Amino acid sequence: MNPNYSRERSGKLYEAAKQYFPGGVNSPVRAFRSVTGPPIFIKKGNGSRLWDEDDNEYIDFCASWGPLILGHNNAAILERVMEAAANGLSFGAPTQWGNRLGKLLLDNNRYIEKMRFVSSGTEAVMSAIRLARGATGRSKIIKFEGCYHGHLDSLLVKAGSGLVTFGVSTSAGIPEAFAKETLVLPLNDPELLEKTLAEHGHDVACIIIEPVPANNGLLLQDRAFLELLREKCTAYGALLIFDEVISGFRVGFEGAAGHYGIQPDILTYGKIIGGGMPVGAYGASHELMGHIAPDGPVYQAGTLSANPVAMAAGLAALEQLLAPGFYEALERKTQYFVQAVQSHCDAKGYEVRIPQIASIFWIAFSRERIITADQIDPKSMEKFKVLHLELLKRGIYFGPSGYEVGFVSAAHSTADLEAAAAEVNAAMDVVFG
Ligand SMILES: *Cc1c(COP(=O)(O)O)cnc(C)c1O
Repeated sequence: MNPNYSRERSGKLYEAAKQYFPGGVNSPVRAFRSVTGPPIFIKKGNGSRLWDEDDNEYIDFCASWGPLILGHNNAAILERVMEAAANGLSFGAPTQWGNRLGKLLLDNNRYIEKMRFVSSGTEAVMSAIRLARGATGRSKIIKFEGCYHGHLDSLLVKAGSGLVTFGVSTSAGIPEAFAKETLVLPLNDPELLEKTLAEHGHDVACIIIEPVPANNGLLLQDRAFLELLREKCTAYGALLIFDEVISGFRVGFEGAAGHYGIQPDILTYGKIIGGGMPVGAYGASHELMGHIAPDGPVYQAGTLSANPVAMAAGLAALEQLLAPGFYEALERKTQYFVQAVQSHCDAKGYEVRIPQIASIFWIAFSRERIITADQIDPKSMEKFKVLHLELLKRGIYFGPSGYEVGFVSAAHSTADLEAAAAEVNAAMDVVFG
């Protein structure tokens, strides 16, 4: 699709960007460090397509890392954004737009009764953790290896050595004392979970999990493990947080809570909820949300929270997701794409497995069912690197890391997916050739 593939202009822009931003970027993965650079600079997007500054065209499966479930430049979102923007960009005061998005969301989600808007997924998770600590009066939290919850201090941690694993920070600048408040467990290990809770359960404010872990591969959990978390949280008086920043409105309007039929205590949202604008949210029962200021003592605020333009974008996006059959159609398209690639790889004997849920998929260079972080072989990322470059040349854009999932959007036509599968298959032949 890009016969004279060149990144000349992107390369020049990247050279300039390196003088302005660390690594030339404003979020690390964009630097293309684990694939062949330079990063491509995007000029525009429309529907399923992206164009870069060198006028290469791509079918996009990154979707701005998830938010764009309706594709690029969705007409209804654009129209609402213009309508809101025409009256001013921000007031730091309530507007009817916030009410409209809040009502739409709460009317169609059985898992939260009250919510608050913030401006990013990180902020939503940070606030949810504070709420959990404030409501329980406890300080420790449990997270799982292979789940990403944004870049807040207490969650940028990995398991240390030893059986019961106090966190070790994965970033400089995080005091050891903070990391120690976080216990890190492997996914899908009921025994270690029970052991940890037996020892520390009464100090644990919350267990936080991505119910559909999709930031470090796609580590689809058994429902039984998620149910066990629910059961144990109730038993120990800890709160269960489902971080649905990526799964919310993606695996269904009610996210993973609805998909699995499990009631967490606190839910966090981001990505899709803003229709491409910076929005996050957290929600819980009336009672729990009563702890939040100004009703309660847990402080949380935001200058641009529930910004009218962002609310208008979210409203226009979520309205479209509520159309009957929306998620079913999207899942069918995704299955078609995934199966077209999987069957090619199977027929050729390539070591590839593509786990999928709803419109999320991940290309794993392994035949195993991968459900914990330590099952991912770092060496397999060499294969992804080859695949990524081949795909760019062939007009397919995947996020620039083999640990990242791909997304199918409503804007992908069957013809797009047919063409994309053919290109991915041809690229796989190069990877394994
Ligand atoms: C993306 C993501 C976050 C962080 O959201 P930002 O908007 O990037 O701050 C947190 N949790 C999960 C599960 C995510 O996928």
